[in-house]
Amino acid sequence: MLPKYKRVLVKLSGESLMGDKNFGMDPVIIEQYARDIKEIVELGVQVAIVIGGGNIYRGMNEAETGIERAHGDYMGMLATVINGMAMQAMLEKIGVYTRLQSAIKMEQIAEPYIRRRAIRHVEKGRVVIFGAGTGNPYFTTDTAGSLRAIEIQADVILKGTRVDGIYTADPEKDPKAKKYETITFQECISQNLKVMDMTAFTLCMENNLPIIVFDMNKPGNLRKVICGEKVGTLVK
Ligand code: UDP
Repeated sequence: MLPKYKRVLVKLSGESLMGDKNFGMDPVIIEQYARDIKEIVELGVQVAIVIGGGNIYRGMNEAETGIERAHGDYMGMLATVINGMAMQAMLEKIGVYTRLQSAIKMEQIAEPYIRRRAIRHVEKGRVVIFGAGTGNPYFTTDTAGSLRAIEIQADVILKGTRVDGIYTADPEKDPKAKKYETITFQECISQNLKVMDMTAFTLCMENNLPIIVFDMNKPGNLRKVICGEKVGTLVK
């Protein structure tokens, strides 16, 4: 099947990298993600990735950690670089060319984020992993994902999660909850459906960047999404 999208940004949460563990990373999951990404690269899709850091550190828990929010946020951004390096290593191991670009300079391990260079990389078939979020505290990696997707003119942001889309209610609590195949940005707002945090969501809405929420933990799902099969929920 031919891919429906030419250039995509895949957003993976840090927590998803934990697999069944309650901290850190599960190499089995990382390998599955890497193989799924390889599959779409081989279809000729240009791929960029933003990974979260929640499996290692989140800045917003000031009350718990005693660490000032902005300071903790920088720690969270560093966590995303660790995850990005792990994903980079796995992708390269299975034969996918990659580049890691960081929003916070760390020359020994990552290129600095340079928009035009990132575009050039994906054009050449390299997977670009964007680390360190937006480089600013008080933001999330969902916002970094939306921002980078818009900057590199991706056709869509693919938000890989552990659930297979957006539901009318929490499917774990309400057995009658129904999944949306498509939904508009406006409907998400009026029904108070939390697809991403408000900053990230608004960026997508204002720049007409569609979002697909899908279950990344099912091998092969990413390819299905790319080929336009009815997987997950499309927000547009
Ligand atoms: N973060 C930040 N600015 C950004 C992106 C991330 O300060 O642009 C920090 C923030 O503390 C956040 C942490 O990095 O809690 C990890 O990112 P996030 O919570 O988005 O990861 P995920 O929920 O996807 O695992």
